[in-house]
Amino acid sequence: MANPQTYHDRDGWIWFDGKLVPWREAEVHVLTHALHYASSVFEGQRAYDGDIFKLHQHCARLRNSANIMGFDIPWTDEEVAAACKEVLKANNLTDAYVRPVAWLGSERMGVSPTGTKPHLAIAAWEWGKYFSPEVAAKGIRLTIAPWRRPAPYTAPVHAKASGLYMIAMLSRKHAEDTGFDDALMFDWRGQVAEATGANAFFIRDGELFTPTPDCFLNGITRQTIIELAKRRGITVHERAIWPEELESFQQMFLTGSAAEITPVGSAGPWSFEVGDLTRQLDKDYEDLVHGRLPNA
Ligand code: PMP
Repeated sequence: MANPQTYHDRDGWIWFDGKLVPWREAEVHVLTHALHYASSVFEGQRAYDGDIFKLHQHCARLRNSANIMGFDIPWTDEEVAAACKEVLKANNLTDAYVRPVAWLGSERMGVSPTGTKPHLAIAAWEWGKYFSPEVAAKGIRLTIAPWRRPAPYTAPVHAKASGLYMIAMLSRKHAEDTGFDDALMFDWRGQVAEATGANAFFIRDGELFTPTPDCFLNGITRQTIIELAKRRGITVHERAIWPEELESFQQMFLTGSAAEITPVGSAGPWSFEVGDLTRQLDKDYEDLVHGRLPNA
C-alpha cells in the first residue's frame, strides 16, 4: 500500500530523460553530481483547468537557469513543454503543480562537472494552497530570516538553482521552529528582498511597491501582478526598499507560482491589513489563471 505522505512511493508516471516511467522507478544514484555539488535547477508551475499557466516562460527560465549553471537542457523548449503536458495527461491531472528538474548525473565524480551529463525529469501532483487558506485569509505571519540573499557576485542569483535554496530552507525552518509561517529575507545590503519561495509586494495609499530583483528571482507571478496592476491604472514602484520604510506600508502580499497571491499579516515587528487592493489583485490573478481575463 502506497504511503501518501512520501513523494517516492506513489502511483503514477514521471517523465524521465525522454520517456514516462512508473513513479517509483524515477530514481537517481547516490553519487549523482547534483546531490553533492548542487548542479541542479528546477521549475515550479501550476496547471489550472488542464492548462499550465505561463508554461513557455517556465521552460525558457529552466533553460536559462541551466545555462547560468554551465550546462544545457538536451531537449528544446517545445519538447519540454510537450513533456510537461504529457505528464499531466498521464496522471489524469487538470489542477496540479508541475515540477521539472534538471541536474548533472553520476557519470563522473568530483567538483568538476566535466564528463557529467544533464538529465531532466518532470513530475506533477495535486497540490492545494501553499499556505492554508484559513491562515492566508488573515494574512500569514513572517519572521525576519537569519540569512540574507547573497550579492550577485557571490552566487548565480538569477538561476532557479537548488543551491540557492540552502538559505531559503534554513530560513523557512527557522520560521517554522519559532511559530511563524515563513520568513522575509533581506539582501546582502540590508534591503528588503523576498520570502523563502515567493516575491514580496507592499501597498501604500493605493500604490504598489516591490523591490528591484537584482539579487533574487524576478518571479513570473511577480511580473504578472505588475502587469495586472498596471492594467488597473495602479502605480507600481520597483525600487530598493529599506526596512525603515516597512512601517509606512498598509498591506503586504507574496507572489509565486506555488504561493499564488498570499496576503501577509505581519513581517517581524511590522503589521499589515489584508486590504481591498490585495484582494482585488488576488481575484485578478485567479481570473487570469482560469482564463477569465485576457493573458497578461
Ligand atoms: N523567489 C523564490 C526564491 C522562489 O522560489 C520563487 C518561486 N519560484 C519565486 C521567487 C517566485 O517565482 P515565480 O513567480 O516565477 O514562481
